[in-house]
Amino acid sequence: MSRVAHPAGPRHADVLPAGYPPPVPADLNALDPAIWPRTARRSGGALVLGGVSVHALAAQFGTPLFACDEADFRSRCREFHEAFGAGAGVSYAAKAFCCQAVLRWVTEEGLGVDVCTGGELEVALRAGVAAEMITLHGSNKLPAELERALAAGVGHIVADSFEEIGRLASLAGPAGTGRRPRILVRVTTGVEAATHEYVATAHDDQKFGFSLTSGAADEAVRRVLASPGLDFAGLHSHIGSQIYDTAGFEVAAHRVIELAVRIRDEHGIGIEELNLGGGFGIAYTAGDDPADVRVIAASLRNIVESACRGAGLARPRMSVEPGRAIAGPGTVTLYEVGTVKDVDGLRTYVSVDGGMSDNIRTALYDADYTCVLASRESGAPPMLSRIVGRHCESGDIVVRDTYLPADVAAGDLIAVAATGAYCRSMASNYNHVTRPPVVAVRDGAARVMLRRETTDDLLRLDAG
Ligand SMILES: *Cc1c(COP(=O)(O)O)cnc(C)c1O
Repeated sequence: MSRVAHPAGPRHADVLPAGYPPPVPADLNALDPAIWPRTARRSGGALVLGGVSVHALAAQFGTPLFACDEADFRSRCREFHEAFGAGAGVSYAAKAFCCQAVLRWVTEEGLGVDVCTGGELEVALRAGVAAEMITLHGSNKLPAELERALAAGVGHIVADSFEEIGRLASLAGPAGTGRRPRILVRVTTGVEAATHEYVATAHDDQKFGFSLTSGAADEAVRRVLASPGLDFAGLHSHIGSQIYDTAGFEVAAHRVIELAVRIRDEHGIGIEELNLGGGFGIAYTAGDDPADVRVIAASLRNIVESACRGAGLARPRMSVEPGRAIAGPGTVTLYEVGTVKDVDGLRTYVSVDGGMSDNIRTALYDADYTCVLASRESGAPPMLSRIVGRHCESGDIVVRDTYLPADVAAGDLIAVAATGAYCRSMASNYNHVTRPPVVAVRDGAARVMLRRETTDDLLRLDAG
């Protein structure tokens, strides 16, 4: 069968958006080091990660699978740790990807762990993460989760509502567990971060945190300070995700420090800790240009230092909570091609053995990804393609627009880059598809961190 190499012809010009088709990459076999894991290379044509070929991975573990480059993951932990320096706190936001092995890597590299549910907390405790290195987040922490966190002695709890401060006050202290948890008050700064810009919103129209503009944040601090069982540690702000510049952080830090000034004036105390959250962006495609972590760290330090100096405040201990920037770039998803369907004059649909159940981000956020033919190199001309899954939804798209060599065929392996964050952790069992395994690769060896789910696993939940 012959395929049209570049099929966006005039027949469908009316349905194609402006700027379509996207530019053709110079080399379809190349692995852009800004996008692919740090150990990624080709050997004998095939993609190799952590010294393990995709053929070996597919043969041993099946597809689809997530392959996680341990060296890449650990090096990003170290870079955050070094860039923010001694005295700063860096915690990995476990919601990006959470399993015991990676939480052990994180703590071995000197980072703390952020969790936002009892489930993530149990994984961290089971992994042996020291309780004082754990921070509990969440906009509606269940009473049982608060009790578990207090009993375990987690390092910080980030308070997100008045009800929660009340619950914590009664659970902590002499009448409850007897532990005096360190509380950060999460403030909503009115800064809404987007990918390349930030929008300063007049109204803090979101569910997280206490509004600065309404005075709720000041009141939350008052209530924490008035609760003898609670230890007020400082303030927390998280402005969003996949942020490329530090302008949003700057505005947020200034607003939080204005609150710190009011706290000093009203209560005569400084804030010990200032947590600026996560949200540091990564490169998914060649057009993405995230800032270097050292640049981000230096810039955040300067912002906090100058804002505190200007306000005559002692500089608090600064902390950050990267999730995506640590877990995202080092993992790729490996799929096997099942069908290749030419929609004449428009594009070619390349259907793989996974889809929206292992990567919902394309459907959910219109996310862009980069993929390559991973099982071999090819000199065939570029073919405008859409990588789709096997679910019963036309929106089941993994990579919306990409170019693959025109000879791609059933049985080929496709790798999608930068799928380590918010893919396996958001995976579902839609269509009773079982969730893929996550395999760590390092120095030529592969080890399962999360095994593949089986249909028996799913049927175990079915009461019959
Ligand atoms: C999600 C989240 C993070 C991590 O965000 P990334 O974009 O993955 O870095 C950090 N802190 C809080 C409070 C979050 O909700």
